[in-house]
Amino acid sequence: MALIVQKYGGTSVGTTERIKCVATRVAKWQAQGHQVVVVVSAMSGETNRLIGLAKEIQSSPDARELDVIASTGEQVTIGLLSLALKAIGRKAVSYTGGQVRVLTDSAFSKARILSIDDHNIRRDLADGNIVVVAGFQGVDEAGSITTLGRGGSDTSAVAIAAALKADECQIYTDVDGVYTTDPRIVPEARRLTTVTFEEMLEMASLGSKVLQIRSVEFAGKYKVKLRVLSSFLDEGDGTLITFEDDRHMEQPIISGIAFNRDEAKLTVHGVPDRPGIAYQILGPVAEANIDIDMIIQNVGHDGMTDFSFTVGRGDYDRAKAILDQVQSRVGAREIAGDKTIAKVSVVGVGMRSHVGIASKMFRTLAEESINIKMISTSEIKISVVIDEKYLELAVRVLHKAFELDQVPA
Ligand code: ASP
Ligand code: MG
Repeated sequence: MALIVQKYGGTSVGTTERIKCVATRVAKWQAQGHQVVVVVSAMSGETNRLIGLAKEIQSSPDARELDVIASTGEQVTIGLLSLALKAIGRKAVSYTGGQVRVLTDSAFSKARILSIDDHNIRRDLADGNIVVVAGFQGVDEAGSITTLGRGGSDTSAVAIAAALKADECQIYTDVDGVYTTDPRIVPEARRLTTVTFEEMLEMASLGSKVLQIRSVEFAGKYKVKLRVLSSFLDEGDGTLITFEDDRHMEQPIISGIAFNRDEAKLTVHGVPDRPGIAYQILGPVAEANIDIDMIIQNVGHDGMTDFSFTVGRGDYDRAKAILDQVQSRVGAREIAGDKTIAKVSVVGVGMRSHVGIASKMFRTLAEESINIKMISTSEIKISVVIDEKYLELAVRVLHKAFELDQVPA
């Protein structure tokens, strides 16, 4: 007998029909002798709808009340799923985050989990119940409802699995696992049977939307065995997120190609090349809570240099306005921006022990005359910024060049 936490995302519970399918699937696991805790999202589109309602009243809604509203989507799903389980003769109990007591800090709309009381869940499981918990939400010390950020149900599931020391945390979604890249762009993309936590973390932060990045961090930290599977298929093992040390096989050099269209580039031309300039430019941007991604400073000549960095596209206008103010202070010649860029990354832990990956990536792009505007690397990834219009081509040729369409021997 194992203790399993299953999480079903919005599309998997998008209609009452789908909720009945989920109930059948959950019941099957229980019938095999397992204890099952189910964490659910709101029905698809529901969280957006609720936030939209709030914005009809106040354009940037009060943070505490917004969480009161946004969290109700999940409350509907737990009730419906528990009903569906009872309707097929199972014992089930639903819990909101506050009823479990998922204790969080008070950062409304992006709260962090501090602790989870497993008492109620354990008691109900011992009584033969399937326990159904609302994802995405908790309560703070004062008892106010909080939410964990968009996509936060993944993190709820992993945190509950960690608290219960569950044997496995299964994330059911509308894809059947983690792919070498987005199959909508490269039809030959393959499902990975395993991927390491570090690779998954890079992929999540580089734009892959399969798992919320915080859930991956959490799983890595607490060593939760995490698996991504489809709720629309009856079979398949999905993708298991593994720890590098646990793998005995030879690592593939590259596991996947990630990409992100959601970036924009800003360049400060002609700034004096002297100490403190980077800080004077980026300090105010960071203070405005704008995340900065890649940064490049060119070699100076005649005492002057250029300085470029990327931000999320949604932050572009704010960042540009800040730079326009900084311009005269740092004595810059010009501020330029480009909103039509995209970032493409190759990711793989095998890079640590292989040379020549970067040059292969650059050669492949050169052969298609794709210009690289920026480059950044870590131990297990190489990212480039290119023109957005070449994104799909770049992903396709890189996927092929690194033989990701071929099943490893
Ligand atoms: N319902 C929330 C959202 O749409 C949380 C989740 O689905 O994970 O972001
Ligand atoms: Mg999700």
